[in-house]
Amino acid sequence: MINHPKIKTTCSYCGVGCGIIASVDSKNKVTVQGDPDHPVNKGMLCSKGMNLHYVVNDTSDRILYPEMRWSRSHPRERVSWDDALDRAAGVFKTLIQKHGPDSVGFYVSGQCLTEEYYIANKLVKGFLGTNNIDTNSRLCMSSAVVAYKKTFGEDSVPISYDDIEQADVFLIAGANPAWCHPILFRRLEKHKEKNPNVKIIVADPRKTDSANFGDIHLQLIPGTDIILYNAIGRRLIETGFIDKSFIEKNTEGFLKYRQQVMSMSLREASKLCGVSVEDIKTTADLIGTSNGFISMWAMGLNQSAIGTDKNYSLLNLSLITGRIGKPGNGPFSLTGQPNAMGGREVGGMASLLAVHKELSNPIHRQEVANFWGVDQISPNPGLSATEMFDALESGKLKAVWIICTNPLVSLPNLKKVEKALANAKFVVVQDISHRSDTVEYADLVLPAAGWLEKEGTMTNSERRISYLEKGIDSPGEAKPDVEILCEFARRMGFRGFNFSNAEEIYEEYVSMTRGTSIDISFLNYDRLKSEGTFQWPVPEYRHTGTPRLFSDHKFLTPSGKAIFNIPTQVINSSEKPNSEYPMILTTGRIRDQWHTMTKTGKVSRLRTHYSHPVLEMHLVDAYVEKIKEGDVVEIKSKNGTVRVRVKITKNVREGVVFLPMHWGKQLQNDLNRANNLTFTRVDPQSKEPDFKYTTVSVKKYKKP
Ligand code: SF4
Repeated sequence: MINHPKIKTTCSYCGVGCGIIASVDSKNKVTVQGDPDHPVNKGMLCSKGMNLHYVVNDTSDRILYPEMRWSRSHPRERVSWDDALDRAAGVFKTLIQKHGPDSVGFYVSGQCLTEEYYIANKLVKGFLGTNNIDTNSRLCMSSAVVAYKKTFGEDSVPISYDDIEQADVFLIAGANPAWCHPILFRRLEKHKEKNPNVKIIVADPRKTDSANFGDIHLQLIPGTDIILYNAIGRRLIETGFIDKSFIEKNTEGFLKYRQQVMSMSLREASKLCGVSVEDIKTTADLIGTSNGFISMWAMGLNQSAIGTDKNYSLLNLSLITGRIGKPGNGPFSLTGQPNAMGGREVGGMASLLAVHKELSNPIHRQEVANFWGVDQISPNPGLSATEMFDALESGKLKAVWIICTNPLVSLPNLKKVEKALANAKFVVVQDISHRSDTVEYADLVLPAAGWLEKEGTMTNSERRISYLEKGIDSPGEAKPDVEILCEFARRMGFRGFNFSNAEEIYEEYVSMTRGTSIDISFLNYDRLKSEGTFQWPVPEYRHTGTPRLFSDHKFLTPSGKAIFNIPTQVINSSEKPNSEYPMILTTGRIRDQWHTMTKTGKVSRLRTHYSHPVLEMHLVDAYVEKIKEGDVVEIKSKNGTVRVRVKITKNVREGVVFLPMHWGKQLQNDLNRANNLTFTRVDPQSKEPDFKYTTVSVKKYKKP
């Protein structure tokens, strides 16, 4: 048994990336505290982070051994690792031989460590010969990835948390960091407490805790974000609060942008988005006269059928004001998972290749193929998250290997996901917990090592890479994900997977970054262990990392200029409320739970905040439907039904209801699941699903 008294690591939940010191006692029990020396959290932890040790110490739900079933009519039984991996390799070889490499796919997670993400992508794209590997990060930030690439030339978050203390105006758009990124929000609160001139503007259809703390709440109608940000852009142009010199020297496409934003009056915009002309003007004037302007956003923008266009409209505000590459200025997307950013670096999506190379570019494909010593990377586009489950349902995809994610709660349209998994010829689930609803559908279950049980690296929202040390052994026969994947690859007969530890995988990956915009080839495990965290790029031996990008205003587009992208659709019109489904449902997160509750749901003190899901409904809508506080209501969309209790509030707009997405079948009740209602409708550019706009009806439930 390894028994390190103090282990420096990083929180396994959100993309804020707080440093944690874990202590292990003589009975192998773990306690945690915030790392006072960590630059992100300076010793603070939120409710989720400070209870992480309960998750680790309670192993009652852990998957301890490989389990397999020979047919769907048999229960799974315990098998050896050899039998499990031989079977996996046998099935994958047969399917690939019979139906081609595109008949198999991998669905991974923003919780995977960078080494795991890298090796899974090398295995699938380099050696299995398909690009069918996607990630649950597709569900949270792929719209931001596309928008960054189209605007700056690469998927590059320009600023750092340290910029917060240098800014005086913040526009928080479609995000509730007070609950979902609490330590980052605490930093913002402290900054405002010390500097009363700091202004926080929150754009959200709900009056969240973040909006309550802010100075201005722009309570827009769901789906009208672009109308609002374009109206702010128009006011900035009209008042002259734009940086003409920056626009002229460093951008392309301003005239088209100007044309679009000037085509709608503020009055018209106000009517469409539900925000007063006065608030639009005040917001624009605050941004225009600020010394430092930061926009922050998350799912409210990204998870939409027009998510990429929404991102463009917000990024354009930084471009017209020239607020980029300067201290305290810039756009800042917030990632929901601890290593969503690391996954982007190693090409962890169906459309990407490692080190920000493009799958659609034949030169990039050949460069990566040469690096891995294979003839080619398939030119066929890979399946995105929802496409993968569509293809399983139709039978085009025969087998799926799911790592560290629970699509049976988190994907939209859960009836379809159930059908897809039932229809698959072979489902592998590699995870830590039996609490994942997806395990029920697995033909092969592989026990993985969890947080603190393996080493590796992660990158947080501000491009900060941290090393996670192993502190304890895994229970039962669980193994680190990289070991499982390398053993499978060797059984498939592939070269290039003889790594003896995560560090060797890291070394291979970072050598690939040399000379690229995300160069970390001089950053090794020794430096991460001894010097702490680094923000990429780290392009020289003694380099200490790069807190801010584009200080020279040289962007990574072919012309070197940033690009104003013009939204093609300014309003989400994929559905319209009607007499049958008159309300708009948005789904989201609550303070003390994380994702599908397989970890936070284990901790009793985290369940005291919300012990069950509740629907937030405006009091006028509730009055009309004769619904009272605490009543059980039935929510219906064209797609399915949810039955939960109601919370009557003024915090949502009239005509809008809000339901948290965390609950699966944990209470033996599939009517808790918000994604019974949502549709497999995605943004055409980013393929990110639209979780923020589903038309529904809400009625008081009467027992039959
Ligand atoms: Fe963990 Fe995020 Fe909370 Fe920090 S803010 S402790 S990273 S969940």
